[in-house]
Amino acid sequence: MKLRAYMLFDCESGPCEGAVLVFAHSAMDAKRLGWRTIKEWTGTEYLNVVARHMPSEQGWLAAQEGVDLESEPRMIGSPQCCDRCELWGTAPLIQLSGESVCETCADEDDDAYLEE
Ligand SMILES: [Zn+2]
Repeated sequence: MKLRAYMLFDCESGPCEGAVLVFAHSAMDAKRLGWRTIKEWTGTEYLNVVARHMPSEQGWLAAQEGVDLESEPRMIGSPQCCDRCELWGTAPLIQLSGESVCETCADEDDDAYLEE
């Protein structure tokens, strides 16, 4: 059975306050692996931690974090994130003049260029 990618976060404070990436076989497995980390960050309880399955992102997330989807479940406490907005999980990061940025931030650069 292949691992799936889950984003774990506290449903009250939301993913921006801290989210970990977990590769596991089910949402329950993912929660078991990662909820204590979310608790350390936000002080939340097990019941408030949600595991959001990321089916369309898991391929490139696994590649980006060097995870083999055929291996054991594991947590990535600090996934590679955008150097500007510090978010992760939306799209593969793009290298842009020495920075790793997400698509949204890269698009902002394009817009700025067009306005010049
Ligand atoms: Zn960004």
